[in-house]
Amino acid sequence: MADKIKMTTPLVEMDGDEMTRVIWKMIKDILILPYVDLKSEYYDLGLEYRNETDDQVTVDSAEATKKYGVAVKCATITPNAARMTEYDLKKMWKSPNGTIRAILDGTVFRTPIIVKGITPYIPTWTKPITIARHAYGDVYKNTEMQVKEGSRLELVCTDSEGNETRELIHCYDGTDGVVQGMHNTDRSIRSFARSCFNFALDSKQDLWFATKDTISKKYDHRFKDIFAELYEAEYKEAFEAAGIEYFYTLIDDAVARVIRSEGGYIWACKNYDGDVMSDMVATAYGSLAMMTSVLVSPDGVYEYEAAHGTVQRHYYKHLKGETTSTNSVATIFAWSGALRKRGELDSLPELCAFADRLEKATIDTIESGVMTGDLYLLSTLPEKKKVNTEGFLRAVAERL
Ligand code: NAP
Ligand code: MG
Repeated sequence: MADKIKMTTPLVEMDGDEMTRVIWKMIKDILILPYVDLKSEYYDLGLEYRNETDDQVTVDSAEATKKYGVAVKCATITPNAARMTEYDLKKMWKSPNGTIRAILDGTVFRTPIIVKGITPYIPTWTKPITIARHAYGDVYKNTEMQVKEGSRLELVCTDSEGNETRELIHCYDGTDGVVQGMHNTDRSIRSFARSCFNFALDSKQDLWFATKDTISKKYDHRFKDIFAELYEAEYKEAFEAAGIEYFYTLIDDAVARVIRSEGGYIWACKNYDGDVMSDMVATAYGSLAMMTSVLVSPDGVYEYEAAHGTVQRHYYKHLKGETTSTNSVATIFAWSGALRKRGELDSLPELCAFADRLEKATIDTIESGVMTGDLYLLSTLPEKKKVNTEGFLRAVAERL
């Protein structure tokens, strides 16, 4: 075999849990290590080691990502009550993704992997739609109350000098009701906008953004204005040079246009819109197992992963010695995405070319009719064959 492809800077490798941890090792052994002289700084985010280190390992892995600029992450368990006993945990540790996102201040971009034979429910969507969700504030950090009849509700803001500004929200005459307070910050909206503009330039795709600024004349309008100001001041020239567009419209109009579109752009969404629309878009493209995810920080740090979880049900089968047919495609693409980004940052065209080949071999394998059970159920190819978890990776390796 020819010499392995060399790397200069390490990649931050975040290992994880359950079935995806099993797949992680297989991908490395079968698809990466035979071809690449892998330089990685390894962090074990498996729940046992997070518990052992009081979750310090998660923080350390995020700090290392800041330092090196590129990470690849395996799916991890977010503990709940059942996991407390299953893993005998000291504490109900927070979601690693939440911790990492808070440290990197990033935005998550989710993109479906499209293959022949799996037709989206919207057949005109021949190119991927990438959803970017602003993951801070709004209804996710709200304060709510139930309100009694006869109450008067006001919004009160006390500034740093102690001055109060008041706005009447509602007087509850003749009925009880509910109220909700929510917020966002210019800093967070700016970070979100920057991540979106950078990602659009990086992937050479148009960027769409939409809010309800006609109704929400201060709140949503602030989002619109911040995006517009940053675009004019810092990104317009680069967008024009790259031949891509920044497009703002009302959220209702955006939804209608998305349905009619052929895909191939990034759709930046406010927090709630992104929560809802990412599930709709993922389902429409066919399978959560074919959805990649990358966290991009406003200063250009990238963390790649699969959008799905640890596939617990398959793992329990695996533990019982039963055969599994778990889809490794999104995790393979997390690796190829991270290797390609490393190659771009370090000017290593061979590493970028390897990432391209790995993705092509994966897609070609499925399009030749070899696939895992989840895709087998969806595929309209006339001749198809269901293979097990490792069988799929071996088939990809044969094409590499
Ligand atoms: P999940 O792991 O995404 O799996 C849900 C179901 O979707 C699976 O049971 C399976 O359906 C199907 N599926 C998902 N990925 C698949 C794949 N690669 N190949 C084949 N089928 C796939 O979600 P979950 O079961 O709700 O969560 C399990 C654990 O993952 C939880 O502890 C959660 O905290 C964690 N999680 C982590 C992340 C992350 O790290 N980013 C994200 C989400 C969830 P069938 O069983 O019908 O085959
Ligand atoms: Mg959701």
